[in-house]
Amino acid sequence: MASGHQIPMVDMGKLLSQHGATVTIVTTPLNALRLDPMVTAHSADSGLEIRLLPIRFPCAEAGLPEGCENLEVLPSRNLSRNFFDAVRMLQQPLEKILRDFQPPPTCIISDKHLPWTVQIASKLRIPRILFDGMSCFSFVCSRNIMMSKVYEQQSDLETFVVPGLPDQIELTRAQLPSPFNHGSVNLVDLREEIVEAEKASYGWLINSFEDLEKAYVQECRKTKGDKVWCVGPVSLCNEGDSDKAHRGNKSSINEGQCLKWLGSWPPSSVIYTCLGSLCCLTAPQLIELGSGLEATGRPFIWVIGKSGITSSDDDFQKWAIELEGRVQHRGLLIWGWAPQMLILSHPSVGGFLTHCGWNSTLEGICAGVPMVAWPLFSEQFYNERFIVKVLGIGASVGACAAIRWGEEGKAGVLVKREDVRKSAEEVMSGGRVSEEMRKKAMRLAEMAKRAIEGGSSYLEIKAFVEDVKQISNKLRQEVKDLEE
Ligand code: UDP
Repeated sequence: MASGHQIPMVDMGKLLSQHGATVTIVTTPLNALRLDPMVTAHSADSGLEIRLLPIRFPCAEAGLPEGCENLEVLPSRNLSRNFFDAVRMLQQPLEKILRDFQPPPTCIISDKHLPWTVQIASKLRIPRILFDGMSCFSFVCSRNIMMSKVYEQQSDLETFVVPGLPDQIELTRAQLPSPFNHGSVNLVDLREEIVEAEKASYGWLINSFEDLEKAYVQECRKTKGDKVWCVGPVSLCNEGDSDKAHRGNKSSINEGQCLKWLGSWPPSSVIYTCLGSLCCLTAPQLIELGSGLEATGRPFIWVIGKSGITSSDDDFQKWAIELEGRVQHRGLLIWGWAPQMLILSHPSVGGFLTHCGWNSTLEGICAGVPMVAWPLFSEQFYNERFIVKVLGIGASVGACAAIRWGEEGKAGVLVKREDVRKSAEEVMSGGRVSEEMRKKAMRLAEMAKRAIEGGSSYLEIKAFVEDVKQISNKLRQEVKDLEE
């Protein structure tokens, strides 16, 4: 339960309902409140069958503060174990709800962090479909690194080539996601369960599209067979400004004010900066970022996440107010949640400084905007290589190591203001390289749109719905035959 997983899940629900499925999104009460504007408006406008079903989250039983239903509001990373314990306690109530459900469910589409949905699906004799939120490229990188163990002979900062890929991709051990580099909280058992559940799943739904990463989709299918459906970019189901503005959380800025500010700048001139929903950089690192944006001399939006413990630091706040004074109208600081999709789709935005979360990456692609890539943790370094090396639509700030989520204080300053300024210039300068990136980004945006509007992703959603109908009929018949 975090925006990077919930938002695409709801978008996927919308797409499935457009293809005739009846969709129920099971979540907890506070998450249901956050997601309600995405779902209610959609079902009211379209008359489609999609709804939210909240079930109680056992905070107290797991030793969590009341209301702690989302990773973004977890007061400390040390409570992640409690958080996942509470998530596990949902197994029984969910099973009970699904047993009594009318009409009975035909399949469960499950986030990867709920591996126990395999058991529920098996008891109810329905297929469990995995949605893990990553690209095929990331999956193949992880798989090949894991199988070859290539990282084991390397020191933290030595580069190695990821074996068996169609592209030459170099990484260091320090940049790899947590299965290769454990943080202070040990979640090894959960990870093992996730891997087992992945194998036991009937198929995978992937938020990507064939033309974006054809060779990697094929590689994925080599592991999982033909039950891999690339149905994205799912965010493209949001067409109107209202759908684009209400995603995942309430905006901390008036949308009209934001659009007015954007409208005051020429096309492709603004740098939009947002490092996702989970990161909280230290005050010195944030100051380097802000100073880099200031040094570009270009208009910028900077989303400073409210959940960041250190961004609420008094000294930093004072510094940020001084920055606003210096840059005046040129800089728009958003303290909290930004209407990211709405901003990205505005013609004034010319570059996206992103942490390379997969949803943000796809949203940048859909907007046809080249990116300044600043990966932080998880599979974000894979996504950075994908943006810069495979697609050629971005420049890297040169982050050399992953920050462990919740351990940002230990990392120190990894990216300097000059790194930010230089990479932003590479993307925004309007020179040959930057224009080439922009053209490629715009071509990809058109391809993404085509994929959803009748192209490969449209056809794969259709095929998925048909497949689930068939398999659930078959499984039902088997149960009937056994009963007779
Ligand atoms: N998001 C947003 N406003 C914000 C921060 C994030 O709308 O201020 C959305 C963003 O558009 C994306 C999701 O939250 O859909 C973040 O997912 P991503 O995979 O990019 O990164 P994560 O937050 O999971 O690290």
